[in-house]
This record gives sequence, structure tokens and C-alpha cells, in this order.
Amino acid sequence: MNKDIATPVRTKQILEKYGFSFKKSLGQNFLIDTNILHRIVDHANITSQTGVIEVGPGIGALTEQVAKRAKKVVAFEIDQRLLPILKDTLQPYPHVKVIHQDVLKADLKEVIAEEFKDCKEIMVVANLPYYVTTPIVMRFLEEKLPIKGIVVMLQKEVADRISASPSTKDYGSLSIAVQFYTEAKTVMTVPKTVFVPQPNVDSAVIRLSLREDPAVKVENDEFFFQLVRASFAQRRKTILNNLVNNLPNGKQQKEVIEHALEQVEIDSKRRGESLSIKEFAMLSDSLYKRFE
Ligand code: SAM
Repeated sequence: MNKDIATPVRTKQILEKYGFSFKKSLGQNFLIDTNILHRIVDHANITSQTGVIEVGPGIGALTEQVAKRAKKVVAFEIDQRLLPILKDTLQPYPHVKVIHQDVLKADLKEVIAEEFKDCKEIMVVANLPYYVTTPIVMRFLEEKLPIKGIVVMLQKEVADRISASPSTKDYGSLSIAVQFYTEAKTVMTVPKTVFVPQPNVDSAVIRLSLREDPAVKVENDEFFFQLVRASFAQRRKTILNNLVNNLPNGKQQKEVIEHALEQVEIDSKRRGESLSIKEFAMLSDSLYKRFE
């Protein structure tokens, strides 16, 4: 029986056998530490009833550890050169399906409906390509897919922003966007030494547990997110200034904005970073009714 893929020796053998060279532009940093992989998979609570979507299997290091526990794994890989390698390394796991596609372009709803019929729950598990982490996470959340949770490795700096609380330097529109849909927790930090090649930044694993209902109920989601983004446009400016300058037609509607802030008892001199998600929701509903 072959040794696990994610050991320095086996990974080197595989890379040499296929003459594989890493593409930095595709965020290719492969994991070579099975202990770290076991811990990632532990955090995903995968059982024999779980279907797993993986983004970017690489040479199959994480895929293999997930496959040992899951009912089915569907992995999206953009780099064609990895397909023959994956066919070889994942040969002992017939319940893994590799799809050669950019995950941002995949029809995820259809794939889920087709591939996970017999699964009780669906998790997303990945060591994400760092050049595109936020769009991938947001895609899984905004499409309101029937998934239970997401456990992913990403840049520590992005993990910090996602799980940040109000009035901290990392808190911003990304924290609110992700916390709107999920409960977010950084579950481990990971040293650079467990990757080949080693990335330039520190890494962390984050667990996002999907909420049954969004964290706050708002009249119009789109307006809520527009308001949040406008509130953080210039971090050092007050909420009033940011909304006046960054909402469409904000300048013409300064009085309307002032009135809405007053109505929900938010001091117009506060900064966006001090508002909780609940306060943003109240402000959004108050303003949405009057805003033109
Ligand atoms: N899972 C492997 C591991 O942990 O060793 C590899 C992780 S590596 C950080 C990211 C992988 O994502 C690479 O295999 C890369 O080719 C792939 N990738 C990059 N962009 C992608 C995209 N848009 N869609 C699907 N896969 C992508």
C-alpha cells in the first residue's frame, strides 16, 4: 500500500515522476504534512454520510484524507496538468470525482443536485488558492447553496478579517458579508513549513458554519451590503461622511441619511467600524424606506 500523498518524500516522488512545475499564478502551494491534514478534516466533522466539495485538489493530498472519511468527494481543479496525476494518486478512492473546471465558473447547484443525492449533508473543504480566496468563499455563500459548512485554509490575514468583531482593525465589509451567512471561527494557524513551495504569507484554517437564517433580517439584502461597503469606503471618516460620499445620490440626500441615523440612534460621528451587524441592519431598513 502506498504511503499518504502528503509526506515530503511521496510528494517529491510524484512531482518528479510527472515533471510537475508549480504555477504561482494558480496559487499552487501543496500540503506535505498529514498531521495538519487530519486536523483540518477533524474540524469539518466529516462522516460516512457527508458529501464534500473540494476546490483545487493539487496532487490529492487533502482529497485523500477527506476521501478516507466521506461518502463522496467532488473536486474542482483548474490546472489540466494535474489531471493525469490525480488519476494516478486517487486511484484507490473511486468515490472521488475530479472535475476539470474553474470553480468560479462551475454550475455548483447542478453539480450538488447530480452528485450528492445520497448524502445527508454537504461540506466544502479546501486548501484554497490564495489569489482568489474571497471570491470563492463568497460564491459558496451568496448562491445560497445547500451546504452545512466550509472549512478552508487561507491567508491568516484574510481569516482574521473574516472572523473580526466590531471596533477592531480587521473588522470590515468582508467580516459582515461572511458573518451575515455564517458563524465564523479561526480554528488553527498553520506554519509556512508545511507547504511546498512555502507561501510568502502566514496561513490559517477557518470554519464557517452556515446559519439557518441570516444573522440579521433586512428588507433588502442588496441595499444592506451597499450600505456596509459605503460605510467602510474610507475607514477614518465618520459614518455620515462615508454614506454621503459613497452611496449613489448620497450627496443629494444628506438630510435623509442624517434623519435615518437619528431614528436608529446612531451618532453620525461614529465610524463604520464601530457598528455591529445589527446596527447596520437597523440603519439599512430605516434608510431603505426613504432613500431614492
Ligand atoms: N489541495 C492541494 C493541497 O492541499 O496540497 C492543493 C492546494 S493549492 C493551495 C490550490 C489548488 O487550487 C491548486 O491545485 C490550483 O491549481 C487550484 N486552483 C487554482 N485556481 C483554481 C480555480 N479557480 N478553480 C479550481 N482550482 C483552482
